[in-house]
Amino acid sequence: MIKATLVIPCYNEQDNVREFYSVATAAFSNTPYEYEFIFVNDGSRDDTLKILKELYKQDNSHVNVISFSRNFGKEAAIYAGLKNSTGDYTTVIDADLQQHPRLVLDMLNILEENEDYDSVAAYQEERREGTVLTFFKGMFYKIINKMSETEFPPGVSDFRTMRRPVVDAVLSLSEYHRFSKGLFSWVGFDTYYMPYMAEERFAGSSKWSFLSLFKYAINGIIAFTVTPLKISTFIGAFFSGASILYMFIVIIQKIFFSIDIPGYPTLISVILLLGGLQLFILGIIGEYLSRTYIEGKRRPIYIEKLHLTATATETETKTGTDEDNAGRGSS
Ligand code: UDP
Ligand code: MG
Repeated sequence: MIKATLVIPCYNEQDNVREFYSVATAAFSNTPYEYEFIFVNDGSRDDTLKILKELYKQDNSHVNVISFSRNFGKEAAIYAGLKNSTGDYTTVIDADLQQHPRLVLDMLNILEENEDYDSVAAYQEERREGTVLTFFKGMFYKIINKMSETEFPPGVSDFRTMRRPVVDAVLSLSEYHRFSKGLFSWVGFDTYYMPYMAEERFAGSSKWSFLSLFKYAINGIIAFTVTPLKISTFIGAFFSGASILYMFIVIIQKIFFSIDIPGYPTLISVILLLGGLQLFILGIIGEYLSRTYIEGKRRPIYIEKLHLTATATETETKTGTDEDNAGRGSS
């Protein structure tokens, strides 16, 4: 039988996971698919884990629970889920029911019927967000698509279904700073873009504030393009050219027209401008350098505290690294 795996990152989703389980189970029963759920508890501070354990007790032939030792972020949760997925098809889906589990069946049907597609990515045709957020999200896609060679189709979320080879390809990218949107796109393969309408959250509120979205956007840009680094070369070249030109102007003014240039204000403004630019560019370099530094430590992407697998065996404390990835993160 064809097996589908649902990877569900959960961070403080105590009021959603049970409902998610029921809705998803209802969607998958009476279908030709075998299925498993991998709930990844990303260091929730509420009762999410308690409820996940109950779900596991209730249905340990379908429910897997991976619980992190702390909050590692959704990207790490996705990685852990993919790593433990055993299905022919693997879907990443949110726990809050904004993405209805019945849509997963549509995705599976698309892949079943079209051999040529390797993954199905859902995108929101219309966003139900405020105009300000929509504007900034639009800007983000414009900027990153201009700068990066990887393609970032606007509105595409992490909600997607992949065949095995795509999952393996994404897992082979074992970087610490993960930006899934980009990783999914970077690995290539043929993706079918399926429109969907995001629903309201079943319970709780979004984990994203404007600031965290902004950081996420910067992370994405830095992870997928080095264009900002080249800005310094461009700015440097521009100002060198401009200063040579200005030098000539000053010399000509002095020699032929005996005009004295008022030194103090010009000097101060040029010093401030260049000083500011240098700090700005140092900052950009610092962003890349710090990531290189963190990557160089080769820390594991996540650390498990508890792992309940659907075959009812329980193991504790494992790290999220490839065993063959020597030196990386033994705990
Ligand atoms: N999530 C996570 N770790 C985090 C933040 C979020 O695993 O640090 C999960 C969250 O539980 C949910 C999904 O990621 O299942 C999407 O989060 P959210 O609904 O807050 O984002 P939005 O739908 O607003 O983009
Ligand atoms: Mg959500």
